[in-house]
Amino acid sequence: MTVPRSCISLPKFLKNSVPWWAVLLGILLVTGLVWQVTRWTYNDALDRRIKIGKERLALYSGTLREALSRYAYIPFILSRNADVKILLQTSFNLDLVNRYLESLNSEAGSEALYVMNSVGDTLAASNWREPLSFIGQNYGFRPYFTDAKDGKKGRFFAIGVTTGHPGYFMSHPVQSNGKFLGATVVKVDLTPLQDDWREGGETVLVSDANGVLFLSSRSDWKYRTLAPLSEGQRNLILAGRQYGQQPLDLLPLETVEVLGEGQRIVRFEKKLYLLLSRRLAAMDWQLHHVSPLTPVLERSKAVAVIGTVLAMLVLAIGLYARERRQKQLSRRKAREAEAMKKINVRLQEEIAERSRTEKVLRDTQTELVQAGKLAALGHMAAGIVHELNQPISAIRTHAASGCLLLERNDTERVKETLSAVSRMTDHMASITTQLKTFAHKTPVARERVCLQECLDGAFSMTAPLFSEFAIKVEKNLPLKPLLVTGDPVRIKQVLVNVLRNAVDAMRDCQQRQLGVTVVAHNGTAEIIISDSGSGIAANAIEELFTPFFTTKEVGEGLGLGLSISYRIVTDLGGSIQVKNLDSGGAQFLICLPLVASGAEGE
Ligand code: ADP
Repeated sequence: MTVPRSCISLPKFLKNSVPWWAVLLGILLVTGLVWQVTRWTYNDALDRRIKIGKERLALYSGTLREALSRYAYIPFILSRNADVKILLQTSFNLDLVNRYLESLNSEAGSEALYVMNSVGDTLAASNWREPLSFIGQNYGFRPYFTDAKDGKKGRFFAIGVTTGHPGYFMSHPVQSNGKFLGATVVKVDLTPLQDDWREGGETVLVSDANGVLFLSSRSDWKYRTLAPLSEGQRNLILAGRQYGQQPLDLLPLETVEVLGEGQRIVRFEKKLYLLLSRRLAAMDWQLHHVSPLTPVLERSKAVAVIGTVLAMLVLAIGLYARERRQKQLSRRKAREAEAMKKINVRLQEEIAERSRTEKVLRDTQTELVQAGKLAALGHMAAGIVHELNQPISAIRTHAASGCLLLERNDTERVKETLSAVSRMTDHMASITTQLKTFAHKTPVARERVCLQECLDGAFSMTAPLFSEFAIKVEKNLPLKPLLVTGDPVRIKQVLVNVLRNAVDAMRDCQQRQLGVTVVAHNGTAEIIISDSGSGIAANAIEELFTPFFTTKEVGEGLGLGLSISYRIVTDLGGSIQVKNLDSGGAQFLICLPLVASGAEGE
C-alpha cells in the first residue's frame, strides 16, 4: 500500500532546510538516547527496590527466627520436668501438670503447651479449662510427634486440628532410661507477626518445603502454593492434616524475568511485582518479599516522557536556530542578488551610454574623415589643376604659335613647337600615371635587383638638384652587391622620392648634408637616408605616409610621394619608417628583404 505524499507532512521548517536523512538520524539518535536513559533509570530503580527488598527479607527472617527461638526451649524444659515424667509413667499429677502448663503458657505467651503419651494421646494441656481443650485428643499422626518418638526435636507448622487455629508446633521427646514416654509440645501463634507485616504495608510470605504459603500478609494468597503440588505431596499433607480442608490452590504468579538467585519479576492479575525469596537457615521454609513494580515503571516512564520532551525541545531549538540561520543567509543572498541586479542595470545603462557616445564619436570621426578627405581632395584638386594648368596653357600658346608658323610656312619652327607640345603632354601623362597608382593596384615586376645599382640610378636622377643647392652627399655603401627581389623602376622611384624630399627640406638651411648608408642585417637590407633639413613637425609624423598629406605650397607637391613609396615597399615585403634626428633633420629607414644567400647563386 502506498501512502500519499501529502499524508507525510513534516513541519515547514523541517521541509525547507534540513535533509530528510538528517531528520531521521536526529530522531533515531534522540530515540536511542531516551531509550538508554529510560533503561538506566529503570535498572537503577529496580536495583534500589531489590536492595530494599533484601534488607526487609533480612529483617523479617530475623524477627521470625527470634519469634520461634523464644519458645524453642520450653518443650525441652518440660521434658525434664519430674512431674511431667511421673504423669507419663503413672498418670498421677495430672492436675498439678495442667496448672503448671497453664501458668507457664501464660507467662511465656505461647498459644498452648501440652504433654502427649507414647501413642500420641494428650494427657495434660495448658488449655485444660477451655472447651476446645487438647486433653484426650490424639495427635500421634502429626510429624512433630513422630519426630519426637524418633528421639528428635519436632518442628511443624499446621492448622490446629482441634482449634482450627494455625500455629507452629515444637516438640521434644520425654524419655526415661532410654525409653520413650511421650512428648512435650508448645504451639506458637505466628498470626501477630503476620499482622505486623500487613500493618507495615508489606507483602511478606512464608512458604514451606512444598511451596505452600502458610504465612502471608496478603490474606487472599494464604494457603496457596507457589508451584503445583504433586499427588505424593498432597497425600503427605493430608496424612499430617497440616492444612485442614484448605484446597491449596496454585497462586498464578507468572514469571516474567529471572533477575538472579531468588529474584524474579512476576505478573499477577496483569500487574508486575518484584518477588524476592530467601531460604530460612535450618528450616525448609522460604521467606518471600513481594513489592509492586509500578513505581519503578512509572519512574522510568516519567523519565522517558521528560527525556523525549526535552530531546524534542533541543532538536526543535536546534532546527529552529538552523532555520533562522538559513533564512538570514537567504535574506543576505537576496540582498546581494538585488544589489547585483542594480549594478547590472547600472552597467547596462553605462554600456548603452558608452555605445551612444561611441556612435556619436564614430559619426563625428566619419564627419571629420569626410571633411579631411574633402580638404585633401580640394588640396589635391588644386595641386592637379596647378600641375596640369601650366602644360595646358603652354600647349595652348604653342598651338597658337604653331598656327601662326604654319601660316608663315615655317615648318622648321612648327616642328619645334610640336615637339614642345609633345613634352608637355608627357609631363601631364606622368602626373596622371602617379594618380593611377591609387586607382588600382598595378602588377609589380619581380626580379633580382642590385640595391647599389638602384641607388646609383636614383643618384644620377637627383644629381642636378644636389649640385643646384650645393648639397654635400656622403655615401656609405657595401662593396658586396645586395640583392633584393622587386621592380627596379619602382625601387628607384622610392629612393628618388625620399632624396628629393630631403633636398626640399634642406633648401632654406645653411648646412646641407645628405647621408646614405646601406647595411645588411639579419637577411634585410637597411637603407638609411639622413638629411640636415628642417625635420618633420611632431604632429605631421603620424600622417606622413597618408595620401595627399603635404606641407608644401600648392604646385610644389601633391603629397603622394611617400604614400606611393610606402605602398611599393610594403608590396615588396619591406618597411619604411621616419624619425627626427637629435642633431636636426630627418632620417628615413627603408628595409627590404634580401634574397636568401642559397638563392643568390641561381
Ligand atoms: P610632397 O613631397 O609632394 O609634399 P610627399 O608624400 O613626398 O609629398 O611628402 C609629404 C611631406 O612629407 C612633405 O610635404 C614634407 O612636408 C614631408 N617630408 C618628406 N620628407 C621630408 C624630409 N626629408 N624632411 C622634412 N619633411 C619631409
